[in-house]
Amino acid sequence: VTSGPAGSATATVHRRASWVTDGSWRIAGVVGLLDELDGTRRGPFELVVRDGVITSLRTITSREGEQTPDMSWRVLVPLLINAHDHGRGTGNVLAGIADAPLEPWIGSLRRRRPIGTQESLVGDGCRAMLASGVGATVICVNPQGSDTAAEVTAAAHAASDVGVRAAIVYPLEDVTNAMHGRSRDYVGWSAAEVAGHLEAVEAIAAGIHDPCIELQLGPVGPQWVSESTLAAVGAHARRRGRRVHMHLLESRAQREWADRTYPEGIVDLLRRVDLLGPHICFAHGTHLRKDELAALAESGCALSLNASSNLRLASGIPPVADAQRSELALGAGLDGLALGDDADYWNELRLLRGLGQAQTGRRIDAATMLDRLIRGGRRVLGSSRPAPVALGSLADFVLLDLRGYRHLAERYDWSFSEIALAAGRPDRVSEVWVGGRAVFRSTGAGSRLAVGS
Ligand SMILES: [Zn+2]
Repeated sequence: VTSGPAGSATATVHRRASWVTDGSWRIAGVVGLLDELDGTRRGPFELVVRDGVITSLRTITSREGEQTPDMSWRVLVPLLINAHDHGRGTGNVLAGIADAPLEPWIGSLRRRRPIGTQESLVGDGCRAMLASGVGATVICVNPQGSDTAAEVTAAAHAASDVGVRAAIVYPLEDVTNAMHGRSRDYVGWSAAEVAGHLEAVEAIAAGIHDPCIELQLGPVGPQWVSESTLAAVGAHARRRGRRVHMHLLESRAQREWADRTYPEGIVDLLRRVDLLGPHICFAHGTHLRKDELAALAESGCALSLNASSNLRLASGIPPVADAQRSELALGAGLDGLALGDDADYWNELRLLRGLGQAQTGRRIDAATMLDRLIRGGRRVLGSSRPAPVALGSLADFVLLDLRGYRHLAERYDWSFSEIALAAGRPDRVSEVWVGGRAVFRSTGAGSRLAVGS
């Protein structure tokens, strides 16, 4: 057993060859709302994984508990899901790209490209997420050069190599030189050009043999994609059952563009081009109005809230409370722009809860919020979604070390979900299991691991 002061933990990401698929632990409790445990989320529990599958998740009797008093105070958390990201490598700050309002910021992103290949940007981004407990993510590929198909393929390989679950999003954008949005009758790609991209999407998808990776269609945003291309994407998605991930009303300029260009309403346009439905996820929606949130919810769409990004890019305050009051499937996304440029998903969760509370003057329950974001995130990930934590499921979970909070865990006014949401942070993540494999283990957090060979 080793232990170090908080913050001193070093981490390793296990490479494919050394991935472990067996483990057994005594855990203190469970975060979220797991049906499996009849609402009892206080341990001690025994958790066993064999060949990547959860084979035991049961309460340990007090006699068994007495024999093993050194309960580790790890708690079981369903795999965290980043519902919107791009894979920004080791971060924009290191790359020298300063925060700024979205439109000039995109200009600086294009002028001073982040350092690295698409493969290294996505790989480093995914590794940073894993250290925070995020083992499943959307990656909207930002091409660095002109061969989009090659870069999307490289992104899929990078995510697969790191061992995360990922929805890789192929970018489709045919508006050039119109940062503030196209005209209504803008002529973009020809039918043959659009068909070429959609064929490329299917060819790349056919070459992906990792069940943890899914390919999605990514019309970049309605202001940067012509109507005819949007309609072609909408039809293709419906015909092929392929999911769509699209930015929507992220900035004030985009809101103004939408109101100016589509006075009948942007939701009308989305309906016309067949981009509403349970297979669609919108990112941001910073400037969505209540009636628009309701219309998207009624169509079964999902929305990724990206609060840190909206603050860093001066986009606005996302409508967290209105979104929570709606029936939308909701996810939380880092957009590669966590406040500390460190992929800290726990801070993102606290920020979202804080904004929601500030917008209503009411407390938001941690278990309910985490459960909703995890369910929404699973929807957004499509076939690459994590398995629920349950007997017979593949191991897709995080073990969080909350030993410093055991005095709260013994009190019934503090659920493990409340403690995790209040105190979770990357250096308390001791293990991350994805698709039945231990893909991340902290080596310095002091956890004693009972892991088979
Ligand atoms: Zn984005």
